[in-house]
Amino acid sequence: MATLADPLRYLKGAGPARARLLERLGLLTLGDLLEHYPRGYLDRSRLTPLGQLQPGPEATAQGRVRSVSRRRARTGRSQVHAIVEDESGVVECIWFNQPYIAGRLQRGAEVLLAGRVDLFRRPRFVNPEFETLDRDGPIAPGIVPVYPLTAGLTQPTLRRLMRQALEIAGGALGEFLPAEILARNGLMPWPEASVAVHFPVTQRQLDAARRRIAFQELFDLQMLIACSRATFERPASAEPLTAPGHLARRLRGALPFALTAAQEKALRQICNDLARDVPMHRLLEGDVGSGKTVVAALAALHAVEAGRQVAVMAPTEILAAQHAATFARLCGPLGLETALLTGGTPNPVARAVRAGIAAGDVAIVLGTHALIQESVSFRHLGLVIVDEQHRFGVLQRARLLGKGPAPHALLMSATPIPRTLALTLFGDLDIAVLDEKPPGRTPPRTHRVKPRRYGDMLKFIAGQLAEGAQAYFVCPAIESSQDVDLKAAEDLYQRLQTTGPLANMPAGLLHGRMKTAQKRSVMEAFARGESKYLVATTVIEVGLDVPNANLMVIEHPERYGLSQLHQLRGRIGRGRQPAHLFLIEQPSIGRDARARLTVLVREHDGFRIAEEDLRQRGPGEFFGVRQSGLPALKMADPIAEPQLLERAREEAFAWMRTAGSEALRSSPLWHRLEVRFGERIALYAVG
Ligand code: ADP
Ligand code: MG
Repeated sequence: MATLADPLRYLKGAGPARARLLERLGLLTLGDLLEHYPRGYLDRSRLTPLGQLQPGPEATAQGRVRSVSRRRARTGRSQVHAIVEDESGVVECIWFNQPYIAGRLQRGAEVLLAGRVDLFRRPRFVNPEFETLDRDGPIAPGIVPVYPLTAGLTQPTLRRLMRQALEIAGGALGEFLPAEILARNGLMPWPEASVAVHFPVTQRQLDAARRRIAFQELFDLQMLIACSRATFERPASAEPLTAPGHLARRLRGALPFALTAAQEKALRQICNDLARDVPMHRLLEGDVGSGKTVVAALAALHAVEAGRQVAVMAPTEILAAQHAATFARLCGPLGLETALLTGGTPNPVARAVRAGIAAGDVAIVLGTHALIQESVSFRHLGLVIVDEQHRFGVLQRARLLGKGPAPHALLMSATPIPRTLALTLFGDLDIAVLDEKPPGRTPPRTHRVKPRRYGDMLKFIAGQLAEGAQAYFVCPAIESSQDVDLKAAEDLYQRLQTTGPLANMPAGLLHGRMKTAQKRSVMEAFARGESKYLVATTVIEVGLDVPNANLMVIEHPERYGLSQLHQLRGRIGRGRQPAHLFLIEQPSIGRDARARLTVLVREHDGFRIAEEDLRQRGPGEFFGVRQSGLPALKMADPIAEPQLLERAREEAFAWMRTAGSEALRSSPLWHRLEVRFGERIALYAVG
């Protein structure tokens, strides 16, 4: 009997070459393979005659291929069309961007099709799963799994490997939830679910298996959050930071504006947290432009007045430099020393900054990942602020927190997510929300511009620049690659500088591959208004604040997700002048991209946009590894099934409360969590 940790070469037919293919899917062990779940199923017990197909999310049918053709749409994207027939009628099938499918479909072959049916004059299959019955060999009757694949691997092969894996390692599958939890929630036992999800006998059995697996994914996540929460909430582990508030009052007095009610409330919550002996662990959520920075600065002053140092970490050098300038402007006059430390800080300067931090002379240090280097140590770090926190891994945040004895933590994010989902991901955080923007802002008007109107748009922009405005041009890539015709930043900069109404105007070019000093001088020239427009890659996406810049052109907006477009747009509309965003819309872009642009034109509320983004991309991608630092959810959909999430959350927290962490660590579940979450769960193992 094999164990789940055994490598895949224990399987017959999984030699080195095939093992490499499986590795590309992230599958190394038998356990990995068994958790490689089908992305769909072919259910032969529910065949619909072709003549009776109706539009819907899932249909299965069988027929003979009458014709196959490959086309290239004007977009350059490939399409494969096939006509399939049976006695009752014919149906068209279309596959986008999968040209190899033409080679797998033979005229005259008998095929099984399953997938979404839409209405394009008549019902048609869109990107259906399919199998050639005569060539791929006999398919077992009943429900057949269809797996995510990689080139070189076929469905029959993967099915064979899966059956074998279940045979030799199925016995090693054990249950890791207490029987009461299974009973209370009507859950199928794990070993049974693990088999049934791959080879279900009935639809009901399949549904039960999927529900159990989805529950488990959510439960694991909530367990992680419960552990994290238990660690942070150990009382008397932090030093309460109390301050009469002189510094904050002086800063407020110097600000050209009054705080919004939302800012006041968030600040009160934060200062209350700081005064407790439990370390603060709070997320400050607010749409772009809602004014998170000044809240952070006031919180920092509170900590400084209480005799502690503050570290502010940002994901890019540009943003860190901007924060350093802002904090120096706000806190310098109060007699506080601030400093900037990034990877690009010249060595002698960096040495001096590190010495200042270690001696406690630097009250507030701002920087990038450079702050978590070994060589940085603080005299008495009391508060850590992480801007655009989703750009950092959990471990990076933890490392910064490790620079002081249980410092308080304020995490800031401009990608607001709906409440239930915040619980899924950030259930270990308290949340403060800036749900109000500073007054006097008019949201940018968003225009979709056809390429042939580009010249008119430039004329309009030139007119605005002549009256003192400034503009961003945003490009997706740095240099043009040979095969894709992207207007790369460098090309665009050249073109705008040499021809048309913007030629020879002072301008800047900014991209990620430039040297730190270069980037800074370009950014500063723009911030001072010396350059009229800035051609940039998405390095400007996060956090930049140049209120005078109120025009933005986005080339190839189809390349970005909704939240990212909204972030970009958040760079403008910060001043009093009406702002304009121009989306250059190529005629060839797909339907999904067009739908995103429609939402962006209509919607200005970051919370609603995040929700829409989530709906369009699905939770798997939205909550991908990058966003959350967690393995993506394969089976669970917390949006579609918030109740399952609630159940999982209650059970996980109840277990932590009653059984305690000792019992957890000796339970079979602990091992599973270690395998799934690696270093992340290890963080809490010591506590
Ligand atoms: P974000 O939340 O996106 O980080 P910022 O902190 O960069 O937003 O703030 C955006 C702009 O709004 C800055 O120029 C800031 O000075 C200004 N601002 C912040 N709070 C207020 C307020 N209460 N009234 C007016 N302007 C404000
Ligand atoms: Mg910001």
